[in-house]
Amino acid sequence: MAIWNLGSVNADLVYRVRHMPTPGETLSAYDHQKGLGGKGANMSVACHRAGSHVEHIGAVGEDGTWMKDRLATYGVKVGHLANLPGPSGQAVILLDDAGENEIIILDGANRDITEAMVDAALSRAKPGDTAIFQNETSVQDHFARAARAAGLRLAYAAAPFEAAAVAAVMEHLDILVMNAVEAEQLEAALGQPPEALPIADVVITLGGEGCRWINTATGTVRTFAAPKVTPVDTTGAGDTFTGYLIAGLDQGLAMEAALEMAQKAGALMVTRLGTADVIPTRDEL
Ligand code: ADP
Repeated sequence: MAIWNLGSVNADLVYRVRHMPTPGETLSAYDHQKGLGGKGANMSVACHRAGSHVEHIGAVGEDGTWMKDRLATYGVKVGHLANLPGPSGQAVILLDDAGENEIIILDGANRDITEAMVDAALSRAKPGDTAIFQNETSVQDHFARAARAAGLRLAYAAAPFEAAAVAAVMEHLDILVMNAVEAEQLEAALGQPPEALPIADVVITLGGEGCRWINTATGTVRTFAAPKVTPVDTTGAGDTFTGYLIAGLDQGLAMEAALEMAQKAGALMVTRLGTADVIPTRDEL
């Protein structure tokens, strides 16, 4: 089966500074790195490294050819990743010596994805394939409707969290993945607990505590402990977890087995610095 991922692609521009600049201050960075990131790109790489065939649906800008090439080198199919005029998505990340970060996101080409681009991609999908998306692109509602109409299983990672975005697609979803903070925000916004959502499977990640799986049809709630590791950098843990979970299900694993694999991948990911470039392979688990 194939995974169709409507997702963001960002250049992660990381600047190391001694302290955060105050308003009006000009500061020299003592180190700089440019990496491939964006929740969408991270999940595509995770799905592929977990062993699935993944088609990335999205867009980069005129400065983004290196990101498209890198995704292709990593084995992600980029035939539906458009090159558009204007800038690519970017995350400008300041890291200071106290371990604090400040992040500015430019949506760029990620918000210029059109319904026609989604339709062209999904016309190649087959019933039984899986569609996945997050909250960093345009046309998410259209994607959700079109994926269901095409007979695809539909999974959504509600991050970065936006209650209206979740409410708009909820009725179409088979699987919803959120972290603990997002789950609390959703409960507050909707006034109902995850168990009451009209979604077959809800997965809540709990950082070093592991994850919780709620199967709403049977009303079962199960918690799975995470492998014990010493975290170095938690960036991308959730994306890696979700990519592996969806890949496991795509490959026919039962939910329990897919969650176990996703947790191993998430735990290994937090022991590494970086995002898409350092997502573990299945052999490394
Ligand atoms: P997010 O990155 O979206 O906030 P979490 O922090 O909940 O998501 O992490 C996602 C998953 O990654 C967890 O469910 C767990 O499997 C794994 N993980 C995250 N932090 C740790 C940790 N400190 N130790 C072990 N596993 C972790």
